[in-house]
Amino acid sequence: MSSLGNLRDLYQQVILERYKKPRHRGKTDPIDRRHRGHNPSCGDTIELTVQLNAVGDRIEDVKFEGEGCAIAMASADLMAEAMRGRTLEEALQMVQRFQTMMQGKDEFPTEFRKLNVMQGVSQFPVRIKCATLTWHTLKAALEASTESQAKEFVSNEGVG
Ligand code: ZN
Repeated sequence: MSSLGNLRDLYQQVILERYKKPRHRGKTDPIDRRHRGHNPSCGDTIELTVQLNAVGDRIEDVKFEGEGCAIAMASADLMAEAMRGRTLEEALQMVQRFQTMMQGKDEFPTEFRKLNVMQGVSQFPVRIKCATLTWHTLKAALEASTESQAKEFVSNEGVG
């Protein structure tokens, strides 16, 4: 990252590429956790499905469906990729870190540097909720103990 200009270019490039050609769209099979999220300020909706390992303490796969702006969809695709193989505890820590990063106070270590591209969104406060929607939704999905408990909508109105 030699300059802010380069970071901005990279941010736009990654978001547009992920929006046009998402790699993690669809539903997991089986579905161990499922949750929907809605961002009223932009109109983004998302449905996440999660596949866990046999013990239920590690994420095997995350997929998303939904409609929304490029930032919301790109954030979901990047998050799904980063979550593969994470323990539930690691995943929840990453949710926390992403929210802190959106406040300009933190970033991810090198192995997750693709997520750091989303820092570009923090320059546009009205779009932060677009970027964090998928992370709020994942948190709600993981904190529900069974699939049947996790079918309600989560709305990020009123949260960072
Ligand atoms: Zn949006």
